Amino acid sequence: METKSHKQLHIFFFPYMAQGHTIPLINMAKLFASHGVKSTLMTTPLNAPLFSKAIQSTKQLGFDIEILVIKFPTEEVGLPQGCESATFLLQPQIEQILDEHRPHCLVADAFFPWATDLAAKFGIPRIVFHGVGFFALCATLSVLLYEPHLKLSSDSEVFTIPNFPVEIKLISSQIPAYIKQNAETEFTKLFKAARECEEKSFGFIVNSFYELEPAFADHYRTAFGRKAWHIGPISSWNKAADDEASLDQHKSLNWINSKKPNSVVYICFGSMTNFIDSQLLEIAAGNASASGQGFIWVVKREKNDKEEWLPEGFEKRMEGKGLIIRGWAPQVPILEHEAIGGFVTHCGWNSILEGVSAGVPMITWPVSAEQFYNEKLVTLVLRTGVAVGVKQWSTFVDVKKEASVKREAIEKAINQVMVSEEAEGMRARARVLREMATRAVKEGGSSFSDLTSLLEELGSLGA
Ligand code: UDP
Repeated sequence: METKSHKQLHIFFFPYMAQGHTIPLINMAKLFASHGVKSTLMTTPLNAPLFSKAIQSTKQLGFDIEILVIKFPTEEVGLPQGCESATFLLQPQIEQILDEHRPHCLVADAFFPWATDLAAKFGIPRIVFHGVGFFALCATLSVLLYEPHLKLSSDSEVFTIPNFPVEIKLISSQIPAYIKQNAETEFTKLFKAARECEEKSFGFIVNSFYELEPAFADHYRTAFGRKAWHIGPISSWNKAADDEASLDQHKSLNWINSKKPNSVVYICFGSMTNFIDSQLLEIAAGNASASGQGFIWVVKREKNDKEEWLPEGFEKRMEGKGLIIRGWAPQVPILEHEAIGGFVTHCGWNSILEGVSAGVPMITWPVSAEQFYNEKLVTLVLRTGVAVGVKQWSTFVDVKKEASVKREAIEKAINQVMVSEEAEGMRARARVLREMATRAVKEGGSSFSDLTSLLEELGSLGA
């Protein structure tokens, strides 16, 4: 698909250096390239090999996509605490690159608030990518704007998200700490700067599809006046041609192929969450006792001789019932496998969308960031999942001494989603969403149309 102006657009993509941010932006650059855009992905030397691998198949198909490696200036200054603040150090290089290449647009992660002014210097429109859906975008803005937490006296007090399309209740302890904190930290400063640059930016690309959260997509645009294009689920475009989309090479293939449809729970907490040993032990026990369900459990630990996070002899005892994957799992193809009947997720937005696209009901276990909002979308609005019952927002690395979710709660939630009376209803609704997601990215679908209009708008600028 060429844009109507017939000039080839050149778009730069600048992902924040964390997997939950790079994965959708790499996929977005591939998507744009497959629609006739020249796509350039900027990244640091450490991430470049991963990027190169991810774009290989798109390149082989003859599409115009490349990687531009920028230096990460840690040698000069040492790695500052909390990588976020280090992103400011990249400014001079990005400025030079934009000056030299003068792309038609810069799509940059929300964690680079300075990119808007930088791009404006050269008359380049900057689009913000937050990496979350409309529901969480609206909830975040409402909480920032109306500050309901200031009226709460205890952590357990319930509040309703103000000026929101549906009534959603949370408790005070589920609000992100960076919103509640009075003291300025590097992260609160970055968060504030990110909000301030929003008004000046050209618009927002949202990884979602209209049918998933129509009331919130409308609310974001009308109540908050944001110009947004939804083009998701980004991972659903060109699934067949995706380098990562196959389980062929993975050790889980034989195991999962021997299982019946909807008989296995997939458990993964994204790329950053790392639980303490006592929490992992509870998960192991919960998995072992859940009504004969199989499980694939992804744990961000290396294989060691002494693994104190696992009961003695656990893996041997679980042979046939459960598979533990240490490190990185091919999440999308696992979720797509017919044997997977439930997904225990930390509610990172990419994981939620991947679960939705695969038509899999969820057990929600939010940890950090905007994940508590995502949980409400799944359990109360879409009604395709149940909450395991987490009450406390925390950072990605949980430093508490005690497990916060006990084995009984894990077992109960898994059984509810896999075998209870409500399970069939959740599964049926999840199947409908999967069909909607598939349609959204096909010609005539809502995401397809938004992508087309974005490209046309960019093509007509300065024409
Ligand atoms: N992911 C994966 N294998 C893993 C862990 C994560 O493929 O073992 C992918 C997952 O499919 C998703 C991304 O990493 O695309 C995680 O993003 P998400 O927003 O769910 O969570 P975050 O990592 O940002 O907390």
